[in-house]
Amino acid sequence: MSKKQKRMLARLVAAAVLFAAALPLPLTGLARLAVFLLPYAVVGWDVLWRAVRNIAHGQVFDENFLMALATIGALATGEYPEAVFVMLFYQVGELFQSYAVDQSRKSITALMDIRPDYANMEVDGQLQQVDPEDVAVGDTIVIKPGERIPLDGVVLEGSTTVDTAALTGESLPREAGPGDDVISGCVNLSGLLRVQVTRPFEESTVSKILDLVENASGRKAKAEHFITKFARYYTPIVVLAAVALAFLPPLFTSIQWVESIHRALNFLVVSCPCALVISVPLSFFGGIGGASRDGILVKGGNYLEVLARTEIVVFDKTGTLTQGVFNVTAIHPDDCSEGQLLELAALAESWSDHPISRSLKEAYGKELDSARVSEAEELSGRGVRAVVDGHTVCAGNDKLMEDIGVSWHPCHRVGTTVHVAADGVYLGHIVISDQVKPDAKEAIAALKAQGVRKTVMLTGDAREVGEDVAGRLGLDEVHTQLLPADKVEQVETLLKQVSSKGALAFVGDGINDAPVLSRADVGIAMGGLGSDAAIEAADIVLMDDKPSKIAHAIAIARRTLAIVRQNIVFALAVKLLVLVLSAAGWASMWAAVFADVGVSVIAILNAMRCLRQPKQS
Ligand code: ADP
Ligand code: MG
Repeated sequence: MSKKQKRMLARLVAAAVLFAAALPLPLTGLARLAVFLLPYAVVGWDVLWRAVRNIAHGQVFDENFLMALATIGALATGEYPEAVFVMLFYQVGELFQSYAVDQSRKSITALMDIRPDYANMEVDGQLQQVDPEDVAVGDTIVIKPGERIPLDGVVLEGSTTVDTAALTGESLPREAGPGDDVISGCVNLSGLLRVQVTRPFEESTVSKILDLVENASGRKAKAEHFITKFARYYTPIVVLAAVALAFLPPLFTSIQWVESIHRALNFLVVSCPCALVISVPLSFFGGIGGASRDGILVKGGNYLEVLARTEIVVFDKTGTLTQGVFNVTAIHPDDCSEGQLLELAALAESWSDHPISRSLKEAYGKELDSARVSEAEELSGRGVRAVVDGHTVCAGNDKLMEDIGVSWHPCHRVGTTVHVAADGVYLGHIVISDQVKPDAKEAIAALKAQGVRKTVMLTGDAREVGEDVAGRLGLDEVHTQLLPADKVEQVETLLKQVSSKGALAFVGDGINDAPVLSRADVGIAMGGLGSDAAIEAADIVLMDDKPSKIAHAIAIARRTLAIVRQNIVFALAVKLLVLVLSAAGWASMWAAVFADVGVSVIAILNAMRCLRQPKQS
């Protein structure tokens, strides 16, 4: 508990004792008022104060006002014990609320407790602990076993295993050795590492993730907006109704003034909307927090709402359903050696970060002299063009060859074919193949089991390759040989097939599919542990690149929304019932305050279930 909460608790106990002591006293008149005013003031002075202050600021109708009005009314009509009890119970509810909100915030910040406190920097051969923000790109830092990696970088020396669980929810540690990238926020488990920093702290993976989580509550779900609006109109209406309830019946019926005012006061107590105002945002907060614990970053409650309605899931192929790591399966030169063809391709691709480029460079294996390459250009969905040793080299698919008017010949092997041409002359091709991710097939099956109507794959790759992958994974539909713009068109066609209640999700790796990610109702990106393009373009980021997390994310979204719905229905139903009862004079103020605070507590406890997420399938 915080200091403030402890102080509140002390006040509650003191007031409860004073209240219990006052009840049996055989006093009447002003003396009786005085002994009840004491606990009332101890527990409620701040509510009265806030009500007055808000009125001074022009915000009349809030819950402080409702409670102040109801209890002062009770005091004025001689119902002293009720007044104290309502205030006491109301404050118990408030304390519980603030405790619950703190608790969920804490468990989320604990998950997100990846902000490093320091970095060990080498200065003149000595280790110094410095603020990670003061470390520059190119500096060398040392990470000891057990320490959190403070900045993104590349390993210079040492090898270790790295625990990425804080970022990905994945408990299996990864190996890292010289030349490997390491990501801030992970924990170095076993070896001493010397790391060269590649990104300043503000742009590090940790900063990006923290930003994202901190801003998530800014993007409100429709249900949250609804509740805010609801509270704004609801409270004044309730006060008007209470006034009517107090004055009309005595004028037209035989009901006494005291009785009707009493009913109106009860009515005010029950009508307090706090159960909804607190529990709905708390549910979304919990849903987002629970998801992030499993390596699913959701940028706002609104995306959980959309995700829960998903009917069609559209996938990109490379890097999303497949690993994006290609093996060279054949090199077929027309007019040079295999080694020369591979070298030329690797040089032409040297500036690109596309999975194909990375794989070709990896296959070539030797250091590439970047001075030999100039005017490198990426032609998305086709390939690359660059000037290598003064010759214009193009490497890419059939489309690219047709674009530049080079006659090419197909390969008898199934696989992604990278044709290479220099100065308009065909030199041959390299056949590469990618592997589907181990969980891709079960990911599709899980989506079907959840009632997702259609799964579609879009790819820029060759027809045989695309259809082969789609067939093996059990996708409903596949479209191949698409340029990035064609993918947008396909998604627009698919969007027309979505029912008015449904939604379309697009899942990509963030490389050349940013336009589609933003066109879909909800864009999900493979975070690729550190790929910024993906983190920026998407609404939801899967930190460990596993397609099976999509079904899990949908389950979390549905559960969160179910809990929100339960709370709205439950709170409104109980309140309506007690409102009717108190208007009719059948509910006492004791029952009214029970209804109000009880509903809040139950709704909050229910909302906190959002933090614990359904088991991952
Ligand atoms: P996907 O739709 O599967 O994500 P892309 O749109 O990135 O694939 O690329 C589609 C096709 O364009 C690839 O299959 C490949 O034939 C060609 N291509 C794209 N980028 C490159 C590159 N850097 N080098 C060679 N070929 C490329
Ligand atoms: Mg792609």
